[in-house]
Amino acid sequence: MSSTVSIVLIGVAVLFILGIKFLSSPKTARVGNLIAAAGMLIGLIILCKPDGANIWSQGWTFNYTLIAIGILVGLAIGALGAYSVKMTAMPQMVALFNGLGGGAAALVASLEFIHRASPAKMAGTLPPGEPTAALTIPMLFATLIGSLSFSGSIIAYLKLEGKFEKPMTFPGQNFLNGLILLAIIGLCGWLTFNATGGDAVTAFIVMFSLALFFGIAMVMPIGGADMPVVISLLNSFTGLAVAADGFAINNTAMIVAGTLVGSSGTLLTLLMCKAMNRPVTNVLFGAFGSGGSGKAGAGGVAGTVKPIQADEAAVLLAYAQRVVVVPGYGMAVAQAQHQVRELSEELGKRGVEVQFAIHPVAGRMPGHMNVLLAEANVPYDQLIEMEQINPSMDRVDVCLVIGANDVVNPAAREDKSSPIYGMPIIDADRCKSTIVMKRSMAAGFAGIENHLFYKDNTRMLFGDAKASLNALVAAVKAN
Ligand code: NDP
Repeated sequence: MSSTVSIVLIGVAVLFILGIKFLSSPKTARVGNLIAAAGMLIGLIILCKPDGANIWSQGWTFNYTLIAIGILVGLAIGALGAYSVKMTAMPQMVALFNGLGGGAAALVASLEFIHRASPAKMAGTLPPGEPTAALTIPMLFATLIGSLSFSGSIIAYLKLEGKFEKPMTFPGQNFLNGLILLAIIGLCGWLTFNATGGDAVTAFIVMFSLALFFGIAMVMPIGGADMPVVISLLNSFTGLAVAADGFAINNTAMIVAGTLVGSSGTLLTLLMCKAMNRPVTNVLFGAFGSGGSGKAGAGGVAGTVKPIQADEAAVLLAYAQRVVVVPGYGMAVAQAQHQVRELSEELGKRGVEVQFAIHPVAGRMPGHMNVLLAEANVPYDQLIEMEQINPSMDRVDVCLVIGANDVVNPAAREDKSSPIYGMPIIDADRCKSTIVMKRSMAAGFAGIENHLFYKDNTRMLFGDAKASLNALVAAVKAN
């Protein structure tokens, strides 16, 4: 690789780092996205340059044509996806795009491996000599991690689309998965020292297929509230696969970009596990929702459901000193964030202190509530993290739960047999009174009954969140 290309690639890596830095705040996220995209474009253009005897040596016209076609097709699909996808379907889109990234990383490594393993087929295009372990190991790693990220993400996508109702489990599943993993590791070990010839290509294809299957087998038993953690984990796998590709084809920008995605995905995974009080191993091998009690509609919950009308709820809110709003997925479905801000402003004018309690996995993607409330111009200082607000929840006059369910389910604290037992929740049940806004008694994402709805101090305001909030705002103004 020429020194000019190396220097430009280091510049590209800097753009990626700046992009991530800017992405860390909603205010600068758009600029961050553009900076990272500019880095990607420069990286693509600079790599079209033919560079001696490597896989890019078909000639630059050929390379530029191929890459231009790739960019145009990618732009069309990306723009169409971004314009048409609903905010509530973002996690599916993230899972799908992440899967494609993993698949692409696996294909780059596979092409490079097969190319080197069968020199007879591509005579003259490679430097002479056996591929070294230092090259083979990253290629195998990228193929393994990238392909399981691809198939796992597709299953995650289908699950989030509601194509599979329950986590799919059977006795001995972890044992079988363990055997497949052992076979993959064994094949990778053998290939490290036998990386050329027909047998190597066959063994490589078997390993690739097993890795694809392992991705499916790994994600199938996972479900319910564990899905966001899995998506984040697969995201970090894709990053690691891209970084390994970078080592295999000697590309600094890919090493840096992959490491950034890999490390941020790993950090996010660990933070989400911490937020849900579940070790990663438990998420991967615990088969969320396959057992336990608390299914919606199972009955047996103590207490009765007490509906409330908007007028009565407005009186409670208007004469409260402190109100905490707990937004959830239902607020996103109803697109009610602007009405929430209006209500909070209206209450603020009357001297009511309004805060928003943010659960780390509320909604369907990390930061989902922050993004929606920021879009509606709710001031940042009113958004309070779960750990900060929980200790003072018993001093809250009215807790207004808007389309949240799992993240306020006290079963997570009280019912050891519940699948979500141990997951930290926002303690809405500890407030002096709680109003829950939702359309019916239907369960949330985890599919389990919510004991909060039956508590003595809870009232249910049934209806679409946006319509109910409009009625609330009108009633508060009239008070
Ligand atoms: P939940 O999915 O637990 O509950 C949402 C509630 O919103 C439902 O009970 C539904 O009840 C109600 N709802 C839906 N539409 C409307 C509407 N138009 N108006 C009013 N209410 C509505 O949401 P939470 O935010 O409490 O919890 C998030 C869940 O999603 C967790 O289990 C989390 O693990 C999981 N998850 C989170 C991801 C993330 O990264 N944040 C990603 C993937 C999953 P009804 O139908 O009766 O109206």
